[in-house]
Amino acid sequence: MTWTNWVGNQSFAPVSSASPRDEEEVVALVRQAAERGQGVRVAGAGHSFTPVVQTDGLLLDLSAMRGVVATDPAARRATALPGTLIRDFYEPLWDVGLALRNQGDIDTQQIAGAVATGTHGSGTRYTSLSGVVRGVRLVTATGDVREVGEDDLDLLHAAQVSVGMLGVVTQLELEVTEAYRLREQVGLRSWDDVMEHWGQLVAEHRHFGMFWLPTEESGALYNLDGHGERLADQCYVKVYDEVGPEAPDDDTVGRRVDRCYRIFPMVYDPNFHELEYFVALDRAPEALAAMRELMQRSLPDSVYPLEVRTVGPDEAFLSPQYGTPTVVISVSGTPGTDYWAYLRSVDALLADYDARVHWGKLHFMTPERLHALYPRAADFIALRRELDPDGMFLNDHLRPLFA
Ligand SMILES: Cc1cc2nc3c(=O)[nH]c(=O)nc-3n(C[C@H](O)[C@H](O)[C@H](O)COP(=O)(O)OP(=O)(O)OC[C@H]3O[C@@H](n4cnc5c(N)ncnc54)[C@H](O)[C@@H]3O)c2cc1C
Repeated sequence: MTWTNWVGNQSFAPVSSASPRDEEEVVALVRQAAERGQGVRVAGAGHSFTPVVQTDGLLLDLSAMRGVVATDPAARRATALPGTLIRDFYEPLWDVGLALRNQGDIDTQQIAGAVATGTHGSGTRYTSLSGVVRGVRLVTATGDVREVGEDDLDLLHAAQVSVGMLGVVTQLELEVTEAYRLREQVGLRSWDDVMEHWGQLVAEHRHFGMFWLPTEESGALYNLDGHGERLADQCYVKVYDEVGPEAPDDDTVGRRVDRCYRIFPMVYDPNFHELEYFVALDRAPEALAAMRELMQRSLPDSVYPLEVRTVGPDEAFLSPQYGTPTVVISVSGTPGTDYWAYLRSVDALLADYDARVHWGKLHFMTPERLHALYPRAADFIALRRELDPDGMFLNDHLRPLFA
């Protein structure tokens, strides 16, 4: 069996694979792998661009362990199995007056996979999905089941962004919010206009995100429709704000009003290899100006849009938002071209801004930078070693950073 990720830039052949149907089967498989001295990794929905799923041992597919298993409107909590897709939360939560607090550009990731890499949406008042994890059931390297909760905050903060290194996640409890509806406003604005109103755009809207389009062709690469307007050097700006029941549903493109979960998701084609870095929010304007200049110099390698979002702070040890709100800076290389020099130049530029990385997107993290940029990295590694001294859940990509 050969496993390939969604975008097609990572593939490998595990020695064996299995699709357990419940936690008991996961426990048996992990124990068996431990006896054989085999490594174990879990595949989510394969939407990471980095080799975070790769294993030369046992590959687990938990897509049969899927579904929201409990909701508690009073406590604003939802509990789900690991293979639950983001979109599987919508109806069960809405039916009891709840919704995910925030979400990203797509909704086809599995919740355990999305949480493992700190998947986020936009808005400084909201954390990533990892930041709302309040409990995790974990099958560790011994095959024991650990219930990680708010009574052990260090372990919880390690488990919130673990890239699969602490064990197999078999259940997650999330803090959710009251169901809400959103109004989207989408439009093209000049770079200078966006930068002049940067503070206001970020502070005043629930969600502010934009794509700066370096060329006329850039919008189409992410399915962004300019409706005939000039796109080159323009910002495709999206803001979402909560509305009350007095605002009727509206399906006018770029002005929709609807349930939150119908507004958030976008449609992407598997035609880009993405890098995503995070810079402390107070340095956003200077980092963004430097990025625009670098991208203008790097054409045609930099033809994909520069996506810009924000995320609120959290306490997860490996989170890019550990202790600080961030601006999110994403760029892509064109599959089939040698985009590495371009991505390395982005890495070098953003290193000057102490950028942290998205573990699921292309990056050039080194052990030195990890420890300089993530104050709790050593604590994560200590807990990882305690739970998995033989490194059963590490792989070739993660070992150099986290062994
Ligand atoms: C088109 C597209 C849009 C995207 N949009 C966003 C966005 O808006 N915001 C954002 O932050 N990211 C975004 N991403 C990145 C994506 O959300 C992350 O890479 C996420 O981790 C993918 O989830 P997945 O279910 O596909 O997991 P995978 O990529 O399959 O796995 C991710 C990690 O989770 C581990 N894992 C999965 N399940 C378990 C489990 N049960 N136990 C232990 N470990 C497990 C895997 O081993 C791996 O290390 C996007 C990616 C794509 C391709």
